[in-house]
Formats: sequence, C-alpha cells, structure tokens
Amino acid sequence: MAMPRFYFPSALTREVIGQSIELPAAAAHHAVRVVRLAVGDALTLFDGTGGEYAATLVRVERNDVAARVDSFDPVERESPFSVTLAQAIAANDAMDYAVRKAVELGVTALQPLVTERSAPLPSGERGDKRLAHWRGIAVAACEQCGRNRIPPVAPPAPWKEWLLAWKGAAIVPVPGATTSLAALPRPAPPIAIAVGPEGGFTEREIDAARAAGWQAVSLGPRVLRTETAAAAALAAVQVLWGDLQ
Ligand code: SAH
Repeated sequence: MAMPRFYFPSALTREVIGQSIELPAAAAHHAVRVVRLAVGDALTLFDGTGGEYAATLVRVERNDVAARVDSFDPVERESPFSVTLAQAIAANDAMDYAVRKAVELGVTALQPLVTERSAPLPSGERGDKRLAHWRGIAVAACEQCGRNRIPPVAPPAPWKEWLLAWKGAAIVPVPGATTSLAALPRPAPPIAIAVGPEGGFTEREIDAARAAGWQAVSLGPRVLRTETAAAAALAAVQVLWGDLQ
C-alpha cells in the first residue's frame, strides 16, 4: 500500500522535526477511522507549500491523534510546464471529476468559468460552499497523488471577462476545430486551456475567444464529455510539453 498522506493545513517548519504534533480533526479521522492506522504506523504529512514530512503515529485517543515528525524531504512532483485549466462549471459530479483528474494530471491552477451554458452556480453562502468543496477535492487529490503543492481553485469568473484578462498562451478545445493540440508549436508557459460546459461554448463565446487570440484546437474526432475533455487535454499537454513523457 502506498504511504498514507495527510494534508496538515497550517505551515510546518523544520523545527517540528523530532516533535509530536496533534493531527487536525479531518486528518485524524481519516488516519484512524478510514485508513485504520495504529500507533507506530508511518505516514506522510505535507502543508501544501512544498516538500513532505515523514512521521510516525504516536498517540491514538478519542479526541487526540498525534504523530511524531521524523524528517523532511523537499521532493518536488510539480510539472515544469505551467497549465491552468479554465473549466466551465459543470453539473456536480462532472465538475468534481474534472477538478480531481486535473490535479492528478498536474494542473497548476483551476479557474471555474461561468459561461452562457454552464451549470447554475448558487449565489451567496451556497456558492461559497461549492468553491470550498472544489478546494477540498483538490486537497484530497494531492493527498492521493503525492503532490505537495496544492493547486489553487479561484472563485468562479465570467468567461467573457476572464478570457480577456488571461496573460499567456491561450487554448480553447472546440469540437471540429481544424488544428490539433499536437500540431501547435510548444507554447511558452504559462498556458490556459478553457473547456466548455456539457452543452459547449456558444458560437459567440468562441468568436470572442478567437478575437482575443485564443487558439481553437481539436481533441480528436469524438465529442468528449466536458470532464473527459479536461482530463484528455491535460494528459496531452503533459505528454507534449510537460512531465508525462
Ligand atoms: N455539443 C457540444 C459538446 C460539448 S463537449 C458542442 O458541440 O460544443 C464539452 C466541451 O468539451 C467542449 O466545449 C470542448 O471544450 C470540449 N470538447 C469535447 N470534445 C472535444 C473534441 N473532440 N475536440 C475539442 N474539444 C472538445
């Protein structure tokens, strides 16, 4: 079994090495109830700012689960090619999948997009909860896949404004586009890839992107679901220009 990894949300410093620290409630629950770790078991802690700590579980009590921090490893598992996924907000499960797979596939940052046909985003507190939920998925994906830097999930933005504000190479997958991703010359990172919602971008939205210099690309002859398109585009980027080689 891969070493269980837990996000420790407040910054750790090298000074904690040799000390015992109490695990936050979520990590404690996951370690003891889900992964079923016991005193003496090894685990990895990371605080999201880079590198990871080897630790040993030293105390398992009802409301007190603690680990001794043994050593620090500055290992990097980030892709050297910076790619932001701008993902039109999709229905709950599809959006969750897109976020999770994007993180596994090395996305640098995530930008949820409000588009003409994106899934409705609740306003106020429920909207904030949705964003917190996506951020939680990004953390869980980092725990699972070994990333020690958590890609930020930005608050949702309107596509027509965001496409103008993005500074960097800009790619928009459009079914039927005549250029393929593989045919593009290697863009200088950072790049953004904007994936449309279940119903696609509207013609108007694609025209606005093209006018602002976005490059439309095809992801092959089959129409992919929005969450598949996000994962496929990121896998292709990592093969072509990143660290899946
Ligand atoms: N009926 C919609 C399909 C949307 S699929 C339409 O024709 O636009 C959801 C999103 O996934 C699309 O907006 C696009 O960004 C991406 N996508 C899916 N399949 C693709 C393909 N074969 N090539 C390029 N982009 C694709």
